[in-house]
Amino acid sequence: MTLHGHSIIAGKVTRSESGVTFLPVNPSTGADLAPPVHEAPVELADQALVAADEAFDILRSKSPAERAAFLDAIADGIEALGDVLLERAQAETGLPLARLAGERSRTTGQARLFARLIREGSWQEARIDRAIPDRQPLAKPDIRRFMQPVGPVVVFGASNFPLAISVAGTDTVSALAAGCPVVVKAHPGHPGTCEMIARVISEAADRAGMPSGTFSMVHGRGVEIGMALVKHPLTTAVAFTGSLRGGRALFDAASARPTPIPFYGELGSVNPVFLLPGALQQRGPQIAESFVGSLTMGVGQFCTNPGVVFGVKSDGFQDFTEKTASLVRAWPPSTMLHFGISQAFKDGLKRISSVKGIDLLGMSEGTARGTAAQASAMVFSTDLETYRANEDLHEEVFGPASIVTQCQSKEELEQVAESLQGQLTASIHGTPEDLREHSRLIRILERKVGRIIFNGFGTGIEVCPSMHHGGPYPSSTHSFFTSIGTAAIYRFVRPVCYQGFPDDCLPAPLQNANPAAMWRMVDGAMTQDSLH
Ligand code: NAP
Repeated sequence: MTLHGHSIIAGKVTRSESGVTFLPVNPSTGADLAPPVHEAPVELADQALVAADEAFDILRSKSPAERAAFLDAIADGIEALGDVLLERAQAETGLPLARLAGERSRTTGQARLFARLIREGSWQEARIDRAIPDRQPLAKPDIRRFMQPVGPVVVFGASNFPLAISVAGTDTVSALAAGCPVVVKAHPGHPGTCEMIARVISEAADRAGMPSGTFSMVHGRGVEIGMALVKHPLTTAVAFTGSLRGGRALFDAASARPTPIPFYGELGSVNPVFLLPGALQQRGPQIAESFVGSLTMGVGQFCTNPGVVFGVKSDGFQDFTEKTASLVRAWPPSTMLHFGISQAFKDGLKRISSVKGIDLLGMSEGTARGTAAQASAMVFSTDLETYRANEDLHEEVFGPASIVTQCQSKEELEQVAESLQGQLTASIHGTPEDLREHSRLIRILERKVGRIIFNGFGTGIEVCPSMHHGGPYPSSTHSFFTSIGTAAIYRFVRPVCYQGFPDDCLPAPLQNANPAAMWRMVDGAMTQDSLH
């Protein structure tokens, strides 16, 4: 596939008149990658959203089976790209081919999962309360509701998942599944990969008979084009995965519009790890092995990376820290996603190192290659007082860095949990007895965290109906909603209620007949039955 480097608006390659281009850079070599990418002027944001709005009524009137076939075609098209997709993604991100192959499976698996979800239909949460005309003292009307798509959705993917959280990531496929047209802001860290996937989606939309404005993608660097998409009056919701700083700026813009819109920002997190005494006594060194594995996975470039560890002083805690230090020393410096991220990581390490009371526990012994965007792993140690007193230590440092913090008592573990900001995940390593003895810690974490993991780590997210990936601010901007798993679709729908409608004028999921035997709540009870 020869890349053209242009935006794709409503299925058409749209040449930008801006004349502004940039070249992506290979983070493993520092070499520029062709072709130049043409930044979209803000008029293209307008064209994409006008086309999306025009497509909306047609798209939402397509049957679930037609939309599901479209999603399956996207998955098939991504697979049909073969190795060229993985090779381009590797050149743009430095991620290993094996990791990218796994991420591709996740991406196509997600698209097919949403296809199955909408074919089955219960996700629309149809509720029916039948009329009771002779109820006293007032007649009860017939009331029915179900979930309807909101309209055009703008998607911003992150740099660290060039396939699974990018152009055809969960945000896009869940919005399309719901019946919402999508406009993607391509990530400037992997624009060629974005173009390949955008072309697949456009071709799949065309073949599946979807209206042309169903999908668009604009290229750009910097704030202008992204802001234009968020502020556009036809945008009805935004899904963003990325940094707290960028996400907050766009969230503020979405909220300050004359008509505010929901902004689903999946942001950063330090993902605290709590080591409980029974587990430390039994297996401190083994926990260190899985901790360093999680910390360095993907060169630490996961929003669920374990950025801080808390444990009570003990021999087991000492064993954990010693083993951690030796494993980190042995981890070879590796290539990060781009030079900007590796520089930000170095700045973050400097910030941590300069705090009084912070010690270096271990650092990669190998030398980072200057010609590549390489990072060394670093683990620091400190005490609770230092950790609590320094806000610099509470911020995400995106990369393989963590702070092991020694507490003196169970009460101190609870106090530090109380002081945490909102988090995507927290991990607890313990025995069943530990868990029972630390029930208060769990109660505290339930108020701070989206996902609590027992004897594991947050990295390696399962894509499934019960997954929740999101947490209280600042880990995400809307803690009720997930960006991973089938529940992600609820970000792009809203309930619409129909009162007193004749049966044949109701939307199909609310009519008395239920030919697909969809689960519905009828008069307060779940049933698959048709009504008479
Ligand atoms: P990023 O720098 O925030 O960029 C994300 C996207 O938003 C890019 O397209 C970027 O475009 C755009 N953007 C950022 N700030 C903007 C602004 N003020 N106005 C308009 N557009 C803006 O994030 P990243 O470096 O790609 O990803 C790394 C971060 O993502 C880490 O913090 C990581 O924890 C987080 N992350 C979170 C999750 C999650 O599920 N919670 C998953 C993966 C990653 P430009 O680059 O052109 O500005």
